[in-house]
Amino acid sequence: MAWRCSGSTNTELIENLFKAEVIKNERVKEAMLGVDRAHYAPSRPYSDSPQPIGHGATISAPHMHSHACEYLIDHLQPGSRVLDIGSGSGYLTHVLANLVTARPGSATPGQVIGIDHIPELVELARSNMNKSEDGRQLQDSGQVKFITGDGRLGWKENAPYDAIHVGAAAEELHPVLIEQLRAPGRLFIPVESENSGTSLSSLGFGGGQYIWVVDKKADGSVHKEKVFQVSYVPLTDAPRS
Ligand code: SAH
Repeated sequence: MAWRCSGSTNTELIENLFKAEVIKNERVKEAMLGVDRAHYAPSRPYSDSPQPIGHGATISAPHMHSHACEYLIDHLQPGSRVLDIGSGSGYLTHVLANLVTARPGSATPGQVIGIDHIPELVELARSNMNKSEDGRQLQDSGQVKFITGDGRLGWKENAPYDAIHVGAAAEELHPVLIEQLRAPGRLFIPVESENSGTSLSSLGFGGGQYIWVVDKKADGSVHKEKVFQVSYVPLTDAPRS
């Protein structure tokens, strides 16, 4: 279903995702309507598929961005703090900012930190976001910041986060990311299953990557759930320059 959602305009793409019930929440729909994918995926912006953005990275497919927002939505309120790890093109960072930044004059501004380990992609995300007036304002006000660093360590400086999104497949559920969650808070992370790359996975048993949703409850207890199978580029060491 999700792969049939492509459109010829941004609005058509988002409406198709909504009709297919990939996007269910009106706030997610509004936030995605507010960001033109053409600023982030210039070659085929309204196709519901991942697109290369250089440096071995891809902008994820619109249906994956939708799923990420849907799973995190209860923790994306005006004033929330969010960490977007593997921010790549900057598209999802912008959508997340639309969800958490309060209206002008509010006492709780909300903030999204986008982190990527490839400096050229951090620069790309900044310039992509500068293509729109609201994107420029979000960066000028400090409500969106793009940082170069190893996302496997999170970003302690602005922790704790109400929501953490990881846009590349991790080898484990990095405990430091759970530490940096607020209580309550939620982590959305693709993780390589233990059997990936083994003979078991080649036989179709238990291999591949799965999205995990990790909740830190208000009392500090942690609940982990494996929700669906995916295919992301890996979360790796930075390439040597
Ligand atoms: N959410 C992004 C996904 C980009 S692809 C988008 O839709 O545009 C995954 C990104 O993870 C790449 O940009 C890659 O550079 C980044 N990445 C991989 N390993 C990383 C690490 N250890 N720390 C930070 N970023 C990493």
